[in-house]
Amino acid sequence: MAEPVILVVEDDASLRRSLEMTLKAAGYVAVGVGTLADARRMRAHYKPHAILLDLGLPDGDGLDFIGAVRAEDLTPIVVLTARDAEALKVRALDAGADDYVTKPFGLEELLARLRAALRHAVQSAGSAPIVRTGPLEIDLGARVVRREGREIELSPKEFEILALLATRLGKVVRHQDLLKAVWGSERADIQYLRVYVGQLRAKLGLNALLVSDPGVGYRLIAT
Ligand code: CA
Repeated sequence: MAEPVILVVEDDASLRRSLEMTLKAAGYVAVGVGTLADARRMRAHYKPHAILLDLGLPDGDGLDFIGAVRAEDLTPIVVLTARDAEALKVRALDAGADDYVTKPFGLEELLARLRAALRHAVQSAGSAPIVRTGPLEIDLGARVVRREGREIELSPKEFEILALLATRLGKVVRHQDLLKAVWGSERADIQYLRVYVGQLRAKLGLNALLVSDPGVGYRLIAT
């Protein structure tokens, strides 16, 4: 199988070059561009397997590009955003981005997010009834969670939260999406979610695997 092609849209030339080198070293074909116009052209030409996208570009807003891509297909998009830009992260996810990394990010973290986005793209819904990460095994069909083979008793809501995070392993799940899936309304109190996630972490005993993305949501780390 040919190497996956990754389109890198970033106008900071030194960051773009370091992303290209990192991706090549990791076995991807990297196509780097610095403008939205080039991004559109290269996307049409290379049909990339995934897109890394900076939002602030000299000839326009990356959010518009997300919308244009989503109007056509589900190519995974990982957004590169600035620190303290929670509102922008949420807007990017709303527009259809799969995930984001916050600058300055570690290149290993970026590769992990990219792998998660690519993996998610090949999994059709319901095709992975058992999700494994670290010592955890989450059997979505049987609704059973095990840690190192030992079953952990979860309440139905705790299980629903963990199941949703597991189906998007490695990727952020927004607070609103968790509230909607588990409580049936995205206007449910976010405080409920904090309480349940706290209980879930205590039962799993794995704080490092279930992390908070402040202002955005939660993610279950892929190992
Ligand atoms: Ca920029």
